[in-house]
Amino acid sequence: MEMKQKSWISIVFSFASQCRYKIVLSVLCAIISVVAGLIPYWSVYQIITLFIGGSPVMAEVWGWCWIGLGAYAIRFLFYGISTSLSHISAYTILENIRLALAQRLMKAPLGTVIGESVGKLKSVLVDRVETIELPLAHMIPECISNLLLPVAVFVYLVCIDWRMALAMLVTLPFVLIAFAMMMKNFNKLYADYMDSNNYVNGVIVEYVEGIEVIKAFNQSSSSYEKFTKAVKSFKDYTLKWYQSSWKVMNFVSAVLPSTFLGTLPIGMYLYWDGSLTPQDLAMCLILSLGIVGPLMNFTTYVNETKAIEYAVHDVDELLHVEELPDTGKPVDMHSKDIQLQNVSFSYDKESGKQVLSHINLTIPEGKFTALVGPSGGGKSTIARLIARFWDVGDGKITIGGIDIRNMPLTQLADIVSFVTQDNFLFNCSIKENIRLGNPDATDEEVYAAAKAACCDEFIQKLDNGYDTLAGDAGNRLSGGEKQRISIARMILKNAPIVILDEATAFTDQENEEKIQQSIAALTKGKTLLVIAHRLSTIKNANQIIILQNGQVENTGTHQQLLDGDALYRDMWEAHIGAQNWSAGSGKGGN
Ligand code: ADP
Repeated sequence: MEMKQKSWISIVFSFASQCRYKIVLSVLCAIISVVAGLIPYWSVYQIITLFIGGSPVMAEVWGWCWIGLGAYAIRFLFYGISTSLSHISAYTILENIRLALAQRLMKAPLGTVIGESVGKLKSVLVDRVETIELPLAHMIPECISNLLLPVAVFVYLVCIDWRMALAMLVTLPFVLIAFAMMMKNFNKLYADYMDSNNYVNGVIVEYVEGIEVIKAFNQSSSSYEKFTKAVKSFKDYTLKWYQSSWKVMNFVSAVLPSTFLGTLPIGMYLYWDGSLTPQDLAMCLILSLGIVGPLMNFTTYVNETKAIEYAVHDVDELLHVEELPDTGKPVDMHSKDIQLQNVSFSYDKESGKQVLSHINLTIPEGKFTALVGPSGGGKSTIARLIARFWDVGDGKITIGGIDIRNMPLTQLADIVSFVTQDNFLFNCSIKENIRLGNPDATDEEVYAAAKAACCDEFIQKLDNGYDTLAGDAGNRLSGGEKQRISIARMILKNAPIVILDEATAFTDQENEEKIQQSIAALTKGKTLLVIAHRLSTIKNANQIIILQNGQVENTGTHQQLLDGDALYRDMWEAHIGAQNWSAGSGKGGN
């Protein structure tokens, strides 16, 4: 596995800087708790000695009882403090990891983030990070005490009689051999388990997200089949794994606690031999039983350590997604002319398939430029590169003569509004959704923007008007209405450059007119770039650029291209034909 470069422990602790002292304190409390846990045994030993001595003084017996009881209470008190501290530390670590992930996603190329499946991102940010918490919170103190206790008992037994100490370990070699056998394939099995787990997660997310399509196309049986197959194969896999390991686990659970196997016969022998007093014998037997629990706990950490390791490496991978370089230094721009100079780009650096090659074009300030051409020609890619979803492969994109890589991402975001068909509404009020365009805007400005985007009328009809939560209104808003809300947001933002990915779908006539009207309000006086799917909407563009196979085929006005460009003429005729058909079928065109 190539994920071995950096140990998960160092990654986890790199997020623990604020809670370093809490972790140390938690460990110290765990150690105190372990030591206190041994004292009752010592008290019992003393009491047995008193009784075997023949004339026990009751006050002394009581004294030892209280000491034992007190130590027992201290053990749990410190254990409690230790686990509280370790939980606080674990949650702080989780918080830091999640914040770091969110920050990284903000700095990563937007295209990369959008390209990831929501299921995968959610799974890493929520579930995988969460898997770290429980083991981390418990492993910090418990691992230490579970390890320390047997060691302390062993040292104590050595002090009583080294032969008894060794006798206590008589089962250990068998357990170690069994464990070694089980661990031989453990990494591989665990990796397979995780693959299987990820696959079933993916299928479940796909099934739930696609349920609308599945139902619409009446595909429920075949999609359900894929779903059940994935769930069933996951069950089979985990059962197979369980079956392959339960024998060893059972063997370990049976043999590991059987410390009596060694301590009882050897203890009896030593007693008979005269080298072990009865109280020492009793003490050794009690202690050898006392370490069973901690040792058994230790075995459960094997799985948990692996779970953390995988989660941490998933997180680490996401934390190292490529970051867009950001100078952070605001620049002065003298104009809003956009220029692409010799721009080449490919999505897949490995295959090197160029989506754009050597593009040169200018989008003049305050003018209306349209990108047209066959689907797959690279129109959206150009728009995304101007908004810096990714950086260009070769060449450069400048705004006002300044390379966009030399301006802070926030400044670029301020001057460019990208209107796509993905009209995401946050689950806050409609008013706040619009205000996202400019957090400083007054309510009046929000209402004015909504009016300009033809939203006012339908928003007023919602139960709570502008205060309706987008989530509550969500189902009642049509696609066109949602788009108008996001256009209102952009009107409020009032960026000097607007990039518009025109809707491909025909909406109904009324919606269409309102959207056009709101777009006109948004784009007035702006540098406008439209990715056009319907040529009739861009007839009046100052400049139309035809893109085909990642290259600029031609540039001109509508009339110039109609006269001189065969491809454009064909596209125009096809468009007019489609419009007539659409009008003829009673759906309305534009
Ligand atoms: P247009 O907008 O003209 O239809 P695009 O810019 O969307 O064209 O696409 C140009 C080419 O880039 C197409 O071959 C498309 O398959 C490819 N492409 C688009 N987006 C991605 C992406 N996120 N990852 C990989 N390839 C992509």
